[in-house]
Amino acid sequence: MPRRKRPPFVIAGQEIQPGKRVPLELPYAQLVSGSSVAAPLVVMHGRQDGPTVWVSSTIHGDEINGIEIIRELLTHLNIRQISGTLIAAPIVNVHGFIAGDRNLPDGRDLNRSFPGSARGSMASRIADIFIKEVVSRCDCGIDLHTGSSNRVNWPQIRAGLDDEPTLELAKVFGAPIVINAEIRNGSLRQVASENGAIALLFEGGEANRFDQESIDVGVAGIRRSLAHIGMTPPVELPATTPLIAQTSKWTRSSRSGILHLDVDLGDRVQRGDYVAALHDPFGKRLSRIKARSSGVVIGRTHSALVNQGEAIVHIAELDD
Ligand SMILES: [Zn+2]
Repeated sequence: MPRRKRPPFVIAGQEIQPGKRVPLELPYAQLVSGSSVAAPLVVMHGRQDGPTVWVSSTIHGDEINGIEIIRELLTHLNIRQISGTLIAAPIVNVHGFIAGDRNLPDGRDLNRSFPGSARGSMASRIADIFIKEVVSRCDCGIDLHTGSSNRVNWPQIRAGLDDEPTLELAKVFGAPIVINAEIRNGSLRQVASENGAIALLFEGGEANRFDQESIDVGVAGIRRSLAHIGMTPPVELPATTPLIAQTSKWTRSSRSGILHLDVDLGDRVQRGDYVAALHDPFGKRLSRIKARSSGVVIGRTHSALVNQGEAIVHIAELDD
């Protein structure tokens, strides 16, 4: 019996034939100058049946690390070995990316604007297009982020760990730590989960920069994940078992001053340990800051100057 040919994958008005890897543009909006704005996509539509998966980055326009993760990922994937369909979306927030801004020109956070609406705000309209064309078609998705302004994150997966398949994939990804994260209203992860898709959020590095350690963890993690769900053949990428955390807390600065941190990403701390010192401009020590909780440092500020109450060290509390 002849094998049934897979139907083409239709996206952004284009038909992608099985066995094809196609770069295309997803029209989004117009600039005030009249030029059109489109999100770049790469679609790999395999000859064999399999899951439909999206990998997205730069929903926050200044979080560019994931663009490099996706670029490197695509160099490892061979269309002949793909079962199912992969949609890679390296720059979701195109306006923010061009402007070097986390948000859209209307000031809204795209990752609080999903699922969006065709008649809503600018952010809402872009969210709506991305959900309809990409996320609603997928069984699984991985969304790539970094720390926000002046904060750097240890490579980590955030996901809803109460869902067994999500927990399993989060572990397979192989980042150093997996954090059970509550779903934020209006996030991409919320909409994907409601659609029944497995959704992982990867965090690593900082805004406006490439961080090679996070890039390496991200690329290997996505390759392991795609193999695990049957999109690609198995990959030989050994990973250590990730730490698991249910919650995380920021330790904040007790007063304003010049900050000297005593801990770095991945360090273990106990509640009450000194994690930083504050000095005045003459070098006099103003105070030392104690960890508010016990666990592993998953994020820290880059600021040398901090104000009272500013978040300085992010600590994940580990499961036993
Ligand atoms: Zn982000």
